Amino acid sequence: MTLQERDKKHLWHPLKQHQTHPNSLGIVKAKGCILTDEHGNEYIDAISSWYTSMFGHCNDFITSRVYNQMQTLDQIMFSDFTHEPAVKLSEELIKILPENQNRIFFNDNGSTAVEAAIKMALQYHFNKGEKRSLFIALEDGFHGDTFGAMSVSGLSVYNGPFEDFLMHVERVPVPNGENNHAIIEQLKKIITKEKVAGFIYEPLVQGAAGMKIHNAKDINEILQFCKDNDILTIADEVMTGFGKTGNNFASDEITTKPDIICLSKALTAGLVPMAITSCTEEIYAAFLGDSIAEGFMHCHTYSANPIACRAALASIELLQSEEIQQNIQRISSAHVNFLNKVKNHPKVTEVRSKGVILAIDLKTNSSRYGSLRDQLLASFMNEGVFLRPLGNTIYIQPPYVITQEQLNKIYTTIEKVLDTF
Ligand SMILES: *Cc1c(COP(=O)(O)O)cnc(C)c1O
Repeated sequence: MTLQERDKKHLWHPLKQHQTHPNSLGIVKAKGCILTDEHGNEYIDAISSWYTSMFGHCNDFITSRVYNQMQTLDQIMFSDFTHEPAVKLSEELIKILPENQNRIFFNDNGSTAVEAAIKMALQYHFNKGEKRSLFIALEDGFHGDTFGAMSVSGLSVYNGPFEDFLMHVERVPVPNGENNHAIIEQLKKIITKEKVAGFIYEPLVQGAAGMKIHNAKDINEILQFCKDNDILTIADEVMTGFGKTGNNFASDEITTKPDIICLSKALTAGLVPMAITSCTEEIYAAFLGDSIAEGFMHCHTYSANPIACRAALASIELLQSEEIQQNIQRISSAHVNFLNKVKNHPKVTEVRSKGVILAIDLKTNSSRYGSLRDQLLASFMNEGVFLRPLGNTIYIQPPYVITQEQLNKIYTTIEKVLDTF
């Protein structure tokens, strides 16, 4: 029996309607940018397995560091102990994070990084003797699948059955230059009625919304308003962090720095799950006091797992290498050239790119999980490219180690599929 057949017996996949989509392709190997299925077919991983494997799969440099770590210290409770990989990772992260960040709190996935950020913001105000309970978020934002993270997410396709149980959140449109003034007016109205704890946003690129891109200058206006009104700003850089937008972090390009930053996905280069919620010293200081209750009583068993920390250290080292930095530049400019080529295609409505992220909107009314999306996915797979369209948006986020030849193959496959669907 194939993996695909055995899978159907006991497994339940995420984000899947099993009745209409019963098959999951068995993958037996991933190396560099290539995925190999159980029949021996190869696919270029054009989206870095959900934006994680940015240094290629099973990267020898990272796996050897992790292997060594596994032989010395595997897991230890982080509530009572500390260890070198965590200490070193905090030092290395603080060097590259926006200059106002000074504290590193560990979580185990993107959603819990957001969950911790929400709790931190609420308790920060609480500890200072103020009850602030409202969050503001951007429309169409995506921040994860736990309750707090779902609450601040605006993509209703995921949230339907849970809506009655979510936190109170007000949404504002994504700023586009023309609506900035209206957004500020909306915010002014909100703060006259309610006490706002925080504003959460995906800086520069909204991933799940279809790689929607906004300007640094526009989002900065909202952030500045928040600063002026004691609203904590939470940058969800789970997707954008670690080089995706051309800088180490999307927030690097935005003048007003966030109070809290959520990191995951590329943090550990796709090797093992981990996440981080970083914050300013000012936030941390609000949790100091004589009573334990003033501390942040939030913990995950695998906090700061040494193996995950080691994977993160190795990938940060790679990220800072000349080779990877040059690759990021190469991919970014190749994207711009490709988009210039396809932007006038009759089936294309809009194209955009930011760093290594590229998106093409297609002319169609198909819904997010409609049949066109399935057809596109199948066509790309037939051509040996793993691309996972979001509704009518095709997007690429290739590993930084992708060769120009592999990248060109992705581009020509997209052109071919554009001509045939
Ligand atoms: C993926 C993602 C999350 C959720 O991360 P998980 O590890 O899947 O829980 C949160 N925010 C953003 C911006 C993401 O892209």
